[in-house]
Amino acid sequence: MSIIDALTRALGEAAVLTGERIQDRFRSDASTTGTSLPKAVIRPSSVEETSTALRICNNHRQTVTPQGGMTGLAGGANPRAEDVALSLERFFGIEEIDTAAATMIVRAGTPLAAAQEAAAAAGFLLPIDLNARGSCQIGGIVATNAGGLRVIRHGATRDNVLGLEAVLADGTIISSLNKMKKNNTGFDLRQIFIGSEGALGIITRAVLRLHPLPAGRSTALCALADYERVVLFLRRAQAALPGLSAFEAMWESYFQVNQQATNGRFFRQAPAFAVILEEDFVGERSDRAGLEAFLAGALGEGLIKDAVIAQSEREGQAIWKIREGPGLNRPLISFDVSIAIGRMGAFADDCAAALAARFPDHPAYFFGHVGDSNLHIVVLIEGAGGEAKRAIDEIVYGLVQSYAGSISAEHGVGVLKRDFLHCSRTAEELAMMRRIKAALDPNNILNPGKVLPEEARYGAA
Ligand SMILES: Cc1cc2nc3c(=O)[nH]c(=O)nc-3n(C[C@H](O)[C@H](O)[C@H](O)COP(=O)(O)OP(=O)(O)OC[C@H]3O[C@@H](n4cnc5c(N)ncnc54)[C@H](O)[C@@H]3O)c2cc1C
Repeated sequence: MSIIDALTRALGEAAVLTGERIQDRFRSDASTTGTSLPKAVIRPSSVEETSTALRICNNHRQTVTPQGGMTGLAGGANPRAEDVALSLERFFGIEEIDTAAATMIVRAGTPLAAAQEAAAAAGFLLPIDLNARGSCQIGGIVATNAGGLRVIRHGATRDNVLGLEAVLADGTIISSLNKMKKNNTGFDLRQIFIGSEGALGIITRAVLRLHPLPAGRSTALCALADYERVVLFLRRAQAALPGLSAFEAMWESYFQVNQQATNGRFFRQAPAFAVILEEDFVGERSDRAGLEAFLAGALGEGLIKDAVIAQSEREGQAIWKIREGPGLNRPLISFDVSIAIGRMGAFADDCAAALAARFPDHPAYFFGHVGDSNLHIVVLIEGAGGEAKRAIDEIVYGLVQSYAGSISAEHGVGVLKRDFLHCSRTAEELAMMRRIKAALDPNNILNPGKVLPEEARYGAA
């Protein structure tokens, strides 16, 4: 019996799409680098069906590409023509909100925004937040250990997952739906799956940690003269603002082109650095007074040159709009790297100089979640061929390596950064990852060719 017949017989026709029933949305994630449709899409509607599907695929040595909301930026969910895609979009919803434990159990196919809304309706904050919230799913977020906008205050996804359920390549269900903050009973299995990008198992459910809902939030945009002041300002803000929930820096050219594109009039002249700072009202705080006093002090000291505090939610959104980068012309290459905070300014200078020397016609822009040591770099590549793109990758990742940074801060490795993984990981680390992969997926059916380079060596470690 063919693999498609076996899957259809076990799961039913609604759960197995083939031929014209496979829509284009299953081809590529938001990196738009996917080229092939999979030969089938499996859409289980339960954990048991997911287990059955994987057992059949494993027996047939059928490769499987896990897919969530397809908003990933590393090509991790892109199938090859010979793969079947597995999507949990039919397995969605909130199973439980435990107000005493401050946790929620969410099915993997649930969009992030739906989980956030359910938490808010119960009086809690689900702090994981990214601009893809309407489409990205809990399974994809956990599989990529997504970062996002509130990491400085609440950590990345990894820090907000208390328990997890996943199905291994052979169909074994690993149910570890722990709700407790403390649980030191051997290896932390949940952390093996968080950030594994579909290569070690299919995530089916997660226990997420909830926090008190802040009473409000205020946003400010500040102008600074140099990177040293940005770092000092960050440290002061962390000490003075108990609810500091965002600290985003934009280098001059990034701010200029994007303020122009939004018709924003915050600063007449683009400063060397523009910082978006946000404070959640927690504890005694209930208005902007604390933020105003802090900024007045920073101005008086000469730490910042200018500051605008949003007077309404609309004004706050207008500030964030600049950060979204509407003024950058496509096509572009976007990098998501981590550099120790103290060295990020020097790294950006070196990177800008190296790129300008080799590619003067392809401008580079810098911005990032500086408080999380996360720098984004965008290089416009109109007219650039494959060789130039590869050379740009090599310049950036070579420098990241020399600064002992990470080639992926939050988007994951997928297929786009796989060949540069050695820039951030030692040979011993890569060998250990291969051993874990071989132990959990000995037939290499789960997302082969993603995350780890040299897949032929998976079984040999
Ligand atoms: C506008 C926009 C803004 C973004 N902002 C951020 C940001 O601030 N921070 C950030 O970190 N990312 C950001 N991203 C990237 C992306 O949203 C995240 O990586 C997100 O976590 C991907 O979730 P997804 O459901 O779309 O997963 P997909 O793109 O479908 O898949 C991502 C990876 O997870 C695997 N996978 C998916 N579901 C499962 C599952 N159930 N079990 C096992 N593996 C699975 C896939 O195989 C793939 O390797 C942004 C993307 C966009 C388009």
